[in-house]
Amino acid sequence: MSTPRGLVLVYTGAGKGKTTAALGIVFRALGRGLRVAVVQFIKGKWRTGERTFAEQLPQLTFLVMGHGFTWESDDLSRDRMAARAAWDRSRDLILSGEQAIVILDELTYVIQYGFVPVAEVIATLRERPSHVHVVITGRNAPEELTAVADLVTEMQAVKHPFTEGLHAQPGLDF
Ligand code: ATP
Ligand code: MG
Repeated sequence: MSTPRGLVLVYTGAGKGKTTAALGIVFRALGRGLRVAVVQFIKGKWRTGERTFAEQLPQLTFLVMGHGFTWESDDLSRDRMAARAAWDRSRDLILSGEQAIVILDELTYVIQYGFVPVAEVIATLRERPSHVHVVITGRNAPEELTAVADLVTEMQAVKHPFTEGLHAQPGLDF
């Protein structure tokens, strides 16, 4: 058997399930008594179920990016600063080695916006303690990132209720 080591997992693609898959790993890992951190790079419109639940779990560090980067923002400089701050926290968490798993939820969007350079993300992944797993979610994962990942899953949107006019459901979507 090969020696266990920390892996880089990427959940990308246009279909639903990227964040859900990452949260599934959190559920599983907490059951194993592992320490986990989640950093959410996009602040949604609603308070999410995962955030409310996370606040009850001391083994889980759960950070939602400060002021905002939302889809509807009109202040790019504020978004850039919030993204940078969230990334700096993420990098510290990864390099500390204190968490078995660090989830970077929707990181791809802040890379896409040019708020966080992909080269910096890759350098941090390379420098990280060898036992740390990192999970990255978000559409359009850059090729540089999928190249260094150990696992890449692309969610494919075969059908989504949104196209039938059905909106996000508590518990299923947030
Ligand atoms: P989830 O958080 O449900 O796992 P996701 O992380 O794969 O979804 P995101 O791109 O982060 O997807 O978008 C989050 C929100 O957008 C969710 O409410 C999700 O249901 C919705 N969504 C995801 N994919 C689609 C799609 N193909 N069409 C419409 N809405 C979508
Ligand atoms: Mg998501």
